[in-house]
Amino acid sequence: MKLPIKSEETILEEISNHPKENPLAINILEKALKEFRGYVFKMPDPGTPVVSGMSGGADTTTTIAILLEEFGLEVYPFFVNRGQRSYQQEKQSVEYFSNIFKLKYPKLFHDPIEIKVPIPANEIKKDLTEKLRHDVGHPMRNSILTEYGVQYAFSLANHDKHVRNIFCSVVSSDGNYLYHSTLTAMRSLMFHIAVDMGDPSWQVTSLPVEKEMGFYFDKDTLVKWASKHDLPLEKTRTCVELSEKHCGVCDCCYDRKRSFEVAGVKDKTEYIDIRPSSQIRANNN
Ligand SMILES: [Zn+2]
Repeated sequence: MKLPIKSEETILEEISNHPKENPLAINILEKALKEFRGYVFKMPDPGTPVVSGMSGGADTTTTIAILLEEFGLEVYPFFVNRGQRSYQQEKQSVEYFSNIFKLKYPKLFHDPIEIKVPIPANEIKKDLTEKLRHDVGHPMRNSILTEYGVQYAFSLANHDKHVRNIFCSVVSSDGNYLYHSTLTAMRSLMFHIAVDMGDPSWQVTSLPVEKEMGFYFDKDTLVKWASKHDLPLEKTRTCVELSEKHCGVCDCCYDRKRSFEVAGVKDKTEYIDIRPSSQIRANNN
């Protein structure tokens, strides 16, 4: 399956209609990146080693599969044990898909490293959670996670690997909720990391919203791609609750259900509450 390519004009229009994207900031940051190194983003050549987040969720799992299958990149995944409630379920998913990828791409896929670091710090988590702002979530969560990705990438020099690319899996609708999950935030992070490392070759992007590739798509495109490539997404973990099965009603489960419905792909996930997304949202409201 070919991933859907959009024209720059279409993407810019979607960005300007998006509730949390900032077209002005994207424009300024992209100009700065062009000044700094002559381009905004270039997909690395096949065989290039890259680092990618692997959370056990449907988005990062499918993004990694795409990096391997469509772009032939050598992927070093990292999984962050950050104090999340559904750590065990996420870990199970990471192990399950790692086994699939190792068999299918023995030369390209490496065992994920687990990085244990509380995000946010334990000492402030309770106060932060009580004051949670729904458009911010845990402040700086994605940039902190990504910066651990940079440290991991840099550390691979010790294994004779020169790694300057970090991939995340923000999709277009993630930013409907959170500022840190937008293309705008990704561009700001890319500039920050290239400057901070004193090396313009550093790239940080989220494949589903990498506009230089003509991408600005949502979870349903990932679900369709996974379905076409027999990736058993029901084994991924999206729900943030403690339950063994997906709860079926939290915001993350809502999005998961909706993405399968929009994609027209049968959702084999085991939910405690099996109602379709339209009924959950109506109920929550
Ligand atoms: Zn849930």
